[in-house]
Amino acid sequence: MAISPVAMRLPRPPVPWTPLVIAEERCKGCELCVAACPKSVLALDRGRVNILGYHPIALTDASACTSCAFCARICPDTVFTVWAAPRMPREERAR
Ligand code: SF4
Ligand code: SF4
Repeated sequence: MAISPVAMRLPRPPVPWTPLVIAEERCKGCELCVAACPKSVLALDRGRVNILGYHPIALTDASACTSCAFCARICPDTVFTVWAAPRMPREERAR
């Protein structure tokens, strides 16, 4: 798995936080990631076309994404940068 050029420009997690940063201009719409996602939260955005002429991938439900990174592992074009969910302080976890 190559390191996404987007990841190299992101020394810190994105704000507002999201589990995926998508370099949609690199997406070729092959849908390999759609098949690989165990939570079924990826879909082509058929309302838009990227600079390559393809419908780019989009995250449909950020709250259901587990940051498993299966999508990043299978994508041939290093479109995804995956961030793990921020850890909650211990006192909040106990509630
Ligand atoms: S990180 Fe896992 S759950 Fe989230 S979109 Fe990618 S494959 Fe799906
Ligand atoms: S695997 Fe990569 S190139 Fe293919 S649809 Fe998903 S994000 Fe786009």
